[in-house]
Amino acid sequence: MNGNSNDRKAAIVSAVDSLRPVIEDIAVSLYKRPETGLNEVFASEKLRGILSDNGFSVEAGVADLPTSFVARVGKKRPNIAFMAEYDALPGIGHGCGHNLMAAVAVGAGLAMSRVCPPDELGASWTVLGTPAEETIGGKVVMVEKGVFEDIDAAFIAHPGQRNGVGGGVRWASHPLEITFHGRTSHAGGNPEGGINALDACVAAYISIRNLRNHLKDPVRIAGIIAHGGHAQNIVPDLAQMRFTLRSTDWRYLENVIIPKVKQCAEGAAQAVGCTVEFRHHEMLFRDTLDYPVLQEVCSKNFAYVGAELPPRDEGYAGGGVTDVGSVTWVTPAIQIGFNSTSARGHSVEMADSTVTPRGIDAAVMAAKVLALSAYDIVVEPHLLAEAKAYLKERLSS
Ligand SMILES: [Zn+2]
Repeated sequence: MNGNSNDRKAAIVSAVDSLRPVIEDIAVSLYKRPETGLNEVFASEKLRGILSDNGFSVEAGVADLPTSFVARVGKKRPNIAFMAEYDALPGIGHGCGHNLMAAVAVGAGLAMSRVCPPDELGASWTVLGTPAEETIGGKVVMVEKGVFEDIDAAFIAHPGQRNGVGGGVRWASHPLEITFHGRTSHAGGNPEGGINALDACVAAYISIRNLRNHLKDPVRIAGIIAHGGHAQNIVPDLAQMRFTLRSTDWRYLENVIIPKVKQCAEGAAQAVGCTVEFRHHEMLFRDTLDYPVLQEVCSKNFAYVGAELPPRDEGYAGGGVTDVGSVTWVTPAIQIGFNSTSARGHSVEMADSTVTPRGIDAAVMAAKVLALSAYDIVVEPHLLAEAKAYLKERLSS
């Protein structure tokens, strides 16, 4: 790094500091008006307004998601994105702190547009509005609709109890609904006239659960019988199960686990003479690919801003599911964690913590880390090249 670069990094830090009122305003106003997934009309409008007032060209409602947006300055590549989330949880408001995620992404984007004019640096800065993380996984839809095709790297920051640069397990998760169709008849008077969909369903449930013994760890197979008939004197003509199937490798999940689960259900249906149909009743989430080079860059910038970074968590306990996973398999991306609270996730206490001085300080710090990291990968192109090569290698392995 040369002297000029150090000056620029110092300028990025002070630009984010000067944006603290904007960051706080976003955090507080979204906290006061929490909106659940795909209802984030106020949040989306507010963020778009701030970005367009600051020279970003804004497109709303991309990927057929009305509350999503793309806001960009510059036309050159690389195009670096800061992803904002802004959906709240029913009943407890911003208990996952997505109001802070929105504030961080906008703060980082504005700072970069001010300190590093895109044309001068030969880059573009994008703030992506990614709605409905908690429900449908807006990013999964945006990935499928090609929104990330012209994005060279994407950054996001999630609040919580510690600073972090990934590690640990984020599951690939597929929801699968399995429906058996048989034929009703009087269970007492004419049982031979019926085809018992519940019998097929129960047999399938048992063989699907037994599958776990012959699958590569780590895997989770959990399910319920959601419908098992109407009355005991009617042979059930319809039975339905819902499973969540999880693995830490989405390709193993899609190519091995799901076909085996379907085979169990088809076998059970055949034994009874039923038909069976499958439906993904929710979005398919991929596991999160960790990019060592992006982890390194972000770690250095945590240190640059003087923030403590605890050792990485490598276990798979507590590993959640995030729609960021799908992004990491189409473009280099990283989700950092930032220590904003001692409250547990998805709680009213966590929501309240997002508007305290500690919460806002943490968001300002996170915006610095994201902006500095975006700067690093643009001025040191070998870093971005390394991340892209890593993705290619992982996709072909
Ligand atoms: Zn969250």
